[in-house]
Amino acid sequence: MSSLFRHIPSVDRFLQDMEQDQSLKSLPRPLLKDLVGEFLDLCREEIRSGAINDEAALALTALSARAAAYVRFKARPHFKRVINATGVVIHTNLGRSILAGEAVEAVVQGCRHYSNLELALETGQRGSRYSHVEKLLCRLTGAEAGLVVNNNAAAVLLVLDTLAKGREVVVSRGQLVEIGGSFRIPEVMKKSGAVLHEVGATNRTHLRDYEEAIGEGTAMLMKVHTSNYRIIGFHKEVDIADLVTLGRERNLPVFEDLGSGNLFDFSPYGFMPEPTVQQVLKSGVDVVSFSGDKLLGGPQAGVIVGRKEYIDRIKKNQLNRALRIDKMTLAALEATLRLYLDPELARRKVPTLAMITAGRDELSARARRLKRRLARDLTGLAEVSVRPGFSRVGGGSFPEQDLPTALVAVSPAAMDVESLRQGLLATDIPVIGRVEDGRFCLDPRTLLDEEFALVAGAVRTVLQDGMN
Ligand SMILES: *Cc1c(COP(=O)(O)O)cnc(C)c1O
Repeated sequence: MSSLFRHIPSVDRFLQDMEQDQSLKSLPRPLLKDLVGEFLDLCREEIRSGAINDEAALALTALSARAAAYVRFKARPHFKRVINATGVVIHTNLGRSILAGEAVEAVVQGCRHYSNLELALETGQRGSRYSHVEKLLCRLTGAEAGLVVNNNAAAVLLVLDTLAKGREVVVSRGQLVEIGGSFRIPEVMKKSGAVLHEVGATNRTHLRDYEEAIGEGTAMLMKVHTSNYRIIGFHKEVDIADLVTLGRERNLPVFEDLGSGNLFDFSPYGFMPEPTVQQVLKSGVDVVSFSGDKLLGGPQAGVIVGRKEYIDRIKKNQLNRALRIDKMTLAALEATLRLYLDPELARRKVPTLAMITAGRDELSARARRLKRRLARDLTGLAEVSVRPGFSRVGGGSFPEQDLPTALVAVSPAAMDVESLRQGLLATDIPVIGRVEDGRFCLDPRTLLDEEFALVAGAVRTVLQDGMN
């Protein structure tokens, strides 16, 4: 065995060999060298285990294809495209919203070239980065002023820190939500230095609960949109109009964390009524915050809109500098918001809106097309059928709403469904689907048309590899 070790080709010989391969040659040489070293460690391991037991298997020609595959696999970027066939439109694990073409183009232009990010072209003087979206936000929402930060969590933190630091914020117990991961209202409150004053019970809060809570130390009344769950049954929240009236009487600002915050009215599409940002501001709420990449369908961002006197104070907060939005986000956000100037244009062009409002006939037709493609490419490897199912909006939005869809179901002939699901995670462009009733299901709602061929190719590769 020990004599076999001497027959392992040197790292340099592999490197020379890889010089011939364009895709490997372009990799950084130090990385290439390290990865070949790792590959040779693997070979030594195989000699020790007996998996390699003759000289011929150690010839450069015998190992080079495997070495190249190993290096190519290990050197690929970690952050990559995947195909979302889950039917969950705002899928947090998959990057929430994908952007409209206009937004992508704006990002590319804004990054490839210098920009007027903080330059007022009218005067040649220093400008504000918020100027690019503030007017648009005001026009779309009816607000007096607005600004944008890194995400909605940052927006909530900033509002609390500016308007309520060291003082009390009154919130209903029914609204002390946790939003996936680590965003919880009581914790964010603590970080901001504001003091949470909870009122009411988990299921019921009355106006008198707020009235009784207001005292010397009260800075603000806050409402949190309970976007990711619903309390049903014996339940009462105070009407926002009543909260606004109370705020006016006591001279206290009313802040609503809207979470998803949609500018688009989904109710004509059969959704249960959710207030738009415009409606919330119209009801008299002083400051509203919401996410850029949930129902809005833009980049990760936090939008704060409302009365000028409060927004001006928020803009001046030093914390803002740490939470500020970058130019790529700003470019994508402006382009996305511009589409909303015509709601029907936004519905067609903002992928999140187009996917959510896709009609049953359209989805059925697309499912049949995907099925034909798969059936053709998977002959003998799997049964493919179309069956009814449900998609979801995701991102904590419309939690109760099942969106009827047509699923394309794949039943492998000679592989278990779980292995297919896992195999698809390891393909060049991973395909994420879901398993339902023992079938691997693909939902056309979240698939782009140009992805059908990629999906078919990936499923075929995994099923064929499984046969070998
Ligand atoms: C999603 C959400 C947040 C956090 O927004 P991010 O943009 O993810 O930071 C805060 N509050 C509510 C009610 C939410 O739904």
